Amino acid sequence: MARLLSLKKLLLVYFVMSTGALLWLILNFGLFCHTSSKEEETLLTKTRELRHWEERLRRRERDLQKKPQQDASLPTIYAIMPTHTRHVQKAELTRLAQTFLHVKNFHWILVEDSHSRTDLVTSFLASCGIKYTHLNIKTPEDYQLKETDPNWLKPRGVEQRNVGLQWLREHLDEDSDKGVVYFADDDNTYSLQLFDEMRQTRGVSVWPVGLVGGMRFERPVVEHGRVVRWYTYWRPERPFAIDMAGFAVNLQLILENPQAKFELRVRRGYLESSLLEHLITMDELEPLADNCTKVLVWHTRTEKPKMKQENQLIQLGRPSDPRIEV
Ligand code: UDP
Ligand code: MN
Repeated sequence: MARLLSLKKLLLVYFVMSTGALLWLILNFGLFCHTSSKEEETLLTKTRELRHWEERLRRRERDLQKKPQQDASLPTIYAIMPTHTRHVQKAELTRLAQTFLHVKNFHWILVEDSHSRTDLVTSFLASCGIKYTHLNIKTPEDYQLKETDPNWLKPRGVEQRNVGLQWLREHLDEDSDKGVVYFADDDNTYSLQLFDEMRQTRGVSVWPVGLVGGMRFERPVVEHGRVVRWYTYWRPERPFAIDMAGFAVNLQLILENPQAKFELRVRRGYLESSLLEHLITMDELEPLADNCTKVLVWHTRTEKPKMKQENQLIQLGRPSDPRIEV
């Protein structure tokens, strides 16, 4: 704490001095008009350098302010999240990071759908202030969704979630690590209350999901404290007619059942069932969110931004500056 304080003081002194120096430079600019062009150039380079260091220090200070919240008595929430490169990716990750920063003992397992880990996600994670693991696996060609395919045609993020599960099994210990595993999409919207709820999961817990399945919400129907059927339009007879965002699994159960994973070759709507069938039966499910009457997660989808003018500029040979990350 004392070190943090003295670091803050040091930064403050640095800012006051560097801002003062800059002001002095600006106010006395006239003086330099008489200097030679070589001196002028050096001065400009130095000013630029100063600005660069100032920006770096400011960034460091911002990173120091982002402190992951910890409480040793609580189980960790391991959020496995597939993600893929597209224009809105950094915006989505920023939005989510700013939610997850408020969640105690949170471990973000971000799995890129790519042959290697990208620079964008690598530097994003390094400064996001959240505990994370960065993995990648490319979806096999035959299972990739084409530009013109409707989004329900093939399941997405399957291999990425399986790689996340594999990481848990290789790095965590059944006896000493206490946790809850959640499968998050990078475009959904999560209430902080959802994480408080799921932290109690002993086996598999379930709750409603908003804006999904072409309905306002889908939900497990609870009678006398037990899940008895699924409120959904599309095939309610599925073993677990529930969206990926609507359940969490205790880490113990994942580690005890190493064969349990998502099936890539699966009929539409059966992806969630392909994992859960290995782990639990319907009557053992733990209904959360006030007996599954509250919506705390929304299956939002982000509109694909139009790039008409951007593409026109490319054709004109005047593309936008690739050094500016969006
Ligand atoms: N995803 C992926 N590769 C893809 C398409 C999607 O890894 O080619 C990820 C995506 O970033 C998201 C998850 O898989 O975290 C689910 O995809 P999406 O949100 O598009 O599916 P939907 O919400 O429509 O079911
Ligand atoms: Mn989604």
